[in-house]
Amino acid sequence: MLYDKFENRTIITGQLVAVDPVHIGASGNDSLNPSDLDSHVLKDLQGKPLIPGSSVKGVIRSRFEAVMRSIGETACNIFDNNDEDCVSNRLYKDIADSKLSELEKAEKLYESSCTVCKLFGGKSVAGKLRFKDCYFIGEKFISENRDGVGIDRDTGSVSGNAKYDFEIIPKGSRFDFVLIAENLDEKQRKYLSFIVDLLEGNGISEGDYLAFGGKTTRGLGRMKLENKNIEYTDADMLKKQLEERFSL
Ligand SMILES: [Zn+2]
Repeated sequence: MLYDKFENRTIITGQLVAVDPVHIGASGNDSLNPSDLDSHVLKDLQGKPLIPGSSVKGVIRSRFEAVMRSIGETACNIFDNNDEDCVSNRLYKDIADSKLSELEKAEKLYESSCTVCKLFGGKSVAGKLRFKDCYFIGEKFISENRDGVGIDRDTGSVSGNAKYDFEIIPKGSRFDFVLIAENLDEKQRKYLSFIVDLLEGNGISEGDYLAFGGKTTRGLGRMKLENKNIEYTDADMLKKQLEERFSL
């Protein structure tokens, strides 16, 4: 029912457009400390900026978690280590040590997982949403720099003369966006449509865009989905396609 057959697939494509300048650091470190040398944006082999699919997923997941909690759905935080996840270490061990088949174990772990882990994945489930890396659209990337101010980690105040520049992706820059969702149930398809609304900036209120990368508290990072296209295939459609293909 879960992993052993194709039920449906939704492919969402479009462009992520920078509403503000965006800084997605090359080191993946969002610190304001200049000694961290996180002044460059992450780039691909051609020297164009790149937004990792994992970053996009993380931003959407954290907003989606907050929304789920606000409507009383269970949503664990897999990044803290207090073992209060939907699938605790104890439960995981019980299922792993049981006499169930591998497929039954996978299904049991899935059923025990929270709404968020079922979609985005968790310690014991793969998740149903796949976010591809977002590549810059355009022949040439012209970067811009911003002045930064070094913040002392201990006091939180500006540290001495620690002025430094950091690189940004200019406002208006565009990136390819691809999200693939597989085998969603009815409710999850509604969640997916809400996630698309969040990306377009009208999930909660109009113009409420998600912020990506670092320095978002300084007004950087908001991006929105444009030119969206949604392609849906289910098992019946696939069966028809294959029958046509193999018919004599
Ligand atoms: Zn969970």
